[in-house]
Amino acid sequence: MKDKREIAVPARTREILARHGFTLKKSLGQNFLTEPNILHKIVEVAGITPTSNVIEVGPGIGALTEHLVQNAAQVLAFEIDGRLLPILADTLQEYTNVMIRNQDVLQTDLVQISQENFTQQLPIKVVANLPYYITTPIMMHFLESALPVAEMIVMVQKEVAERINAEPGTKAYGSLSIAVQYYMETEISFIVPKTVFVPQPNVDSAILKLTRRSYPKVRVSNEQAFFELIRSAFQLRRKTLWNNLQHHYGKDPAMKSWLQTSLTQAEIDPSRRGETLSLEEFAQLSNTMEENK
Ligand code: SAM
Repeated sequence: MKDKREIAVPARTREILARHGFTLKKSLGQNFLTEPNILHKIVEVAGITPTSNVIEVGPGIGALTEHLVQNAAQVLAFEIDGRLLPILADTLQEYTNVMIRNQDVLQTDLVQISQENFTQQLPIKVVANLPYYITTPIMMHFLESALPVAEMIVMVQKEVAERINAEPGTKAYGSLSIAVQYYMETEISFIVPKTVFVPQPNVDSAILKLTRRSYPKVRVSNEQAFFELIRSAFQLRRKTLWNNLQHHYGKDPAMKSWLQTSLTQAEIDPSRRGETLSLEEFAQLSNTMEENK
């Protein structure tokens, strides 16, 4: 008989794990959510309707997936741990609009696999309780791919959410804030206490909502050079921009002169630190450096 309880109800999660003899793997970031109310809130924040396709990373035993499939047109989920596939086949057996792929999302060609699996062209939302050990690579994999992801609603460690959402001049601001804010508008929707996971992690989490901008926030003439500049500006924390740029691009007279001229033309004081520069200032500097090449 069909079990009417949600998968995330703690007693049902325990029963599913016991029935399948499943032991959680810490190395794969397996902290499962066992609080249905949090899942209801995630689905509400994500605004999933039958006119959206959803990609989920790491369905686990399907706690979030069952809510996604009940609301979306189709759900495509990537799960690296093959032991979870028979469990998902069991817990999600009544749904026909879910496709589970046993693969590492980082090794996935997102454009190709989306074309192969989604039958309708609808806006794509990424909704996931991300494995903490690879949160940033997964987010960048989606942002840098050519897949037109409209929104990402992801659970990440609270501290990572704060870094992504940070303003210039704050302690949390860094290359990750810039890399994400370049493509997306960012918002922390709500905080999730560590007590709602099995096993309980050491830190609280947050739901981060990222919405694709129609155009990147700033205009840059060479994206690759822009991202190189940003990485270099934050390479040595607590050092000035001047120190960091020389450290990265080189100290020979020609390089120094190129950097100095570009900083002067972009009207950026070399004694400032990277964390005080806005996205617009980084773009200005990068474009000037390109012009002076
Ligand atoms: N969605 C479930 C939930 O909310 O309870 C499980 C979330 S758990 C934090 C992360 C899931 O991601 C695990 O099921 C883990 O096996 C899976 N995972 C870890 N690394 C992955 C990768 N590289 N690609 C796909 N899935 C991965």
